[in-house]
Amino acid sequence: MKCTIVGMWGGFPKKNEPTSGYLVEKDGFAILLDAGSGVAAHVQNYIELNELNHLFLSHYHYDHSVDLGAFMFGRMIGTYIDQADERLHIYGPADNDIARQVEDTNFNKFHAYNKNSTFNVGPFTVTFHKNTHPVETYAMKIVDDEEKTLVYTADTSYKKSLSKFAENADVLITECSHYEGEDAKRLGHLNAEEAALLAEESQAKRTILSHLPHYGNTEELLQTAKSAGLKDVTLAETGMVIQI
Ligand SMILES: [Zn+2]
Ligand SMILES: [Zn+2]
Repeated sequence: MKCTIVGMWGGFPKKNEPTSGYLVEKDGFAILLDAGSGVAAHVQNYIELNELNHLFLSHYHYDHSVDLGAFMFGRMIGTYIDQADERLHIYGPADNDIARQVEDTNFNKFHAYNKNSTFNVGPFTVTFHKNTHPVETYAMKIVDDEEKTLVYTADTSYKKSLSKFAENADVLITECSHYEGEDAKRLGHLNAEEAALLAEESQAKRTILSHLPHYGNTEELLQTAKSAGLKDVTLAETGMVIQI
C-alpha cells in the first residue's frame, strides 16, 4: 500500500499545509484517515474527490475533522452533476450530531465505530485502539491483503496498550506534538521522548513523527527520537509518499 501525507500539522494549518490527513491507497482503492483543515482542498492533488469513498475520522477535534462538511458537500454536488455514483462512507466514534448531519444529506453513510470494530474495505482491514485524549479518540491499524501494516496513532497521551496495538507495524505514524521535557500528557499528547518510547516498544520497522508543533525547531524532535535508539525515523512532511 501507499500512504500520502496530505497534512501533518497539529492544531491549525500552516500556509498551504493542512492539519491531519493521510491518504492510503492500494490497487486503485483509497481510504482517507482524518479530514483536518485544508485536507479536502489538498487531497485533490492526489485523487479526485469523487473517487474517494471511505473517510475514517479518529475524533472530532477540528484539526482532524473540520473538513468533513467539505467532503459531504463535495459528494452531494458530485452526485447532482453525475460525477459520483457511490455514497461517501464516513467512519467515526459514535456522535449524534455527526450521525444526524450525515443522515440529513443522503449522499453519505455514517458508520459509528468503537474499540471492538473491524471494517473490511477494499484490500484493507481497519481496526481501532481507544486512546487517552480529552475527547473520545482512536488510533487505527490498517492491514492490507499482503499483511502489510500501517498504524496511525492520531492524538493520544502515552499508553502501553498502544505499543501493543502497534506491535511490529511496518510503518508507525505517531503524533509528536511536543518537545522533549514538555508535559504533553497534561494535554493528551505525546512529547518526542514518549513518541520514541512508543515506537521502540512496538518494534515498528519505520516511524514517522507527525502532528508536529508550529514552534521551535522540529529537527530537535528527530534528534530526540534518534538519541532514544530509533534507527528508521523521519519527520512527516506535506506531500510525503510512504511505500509500505
Ligand atoms: Zn490533533
Ligand atoms: Zn485532538
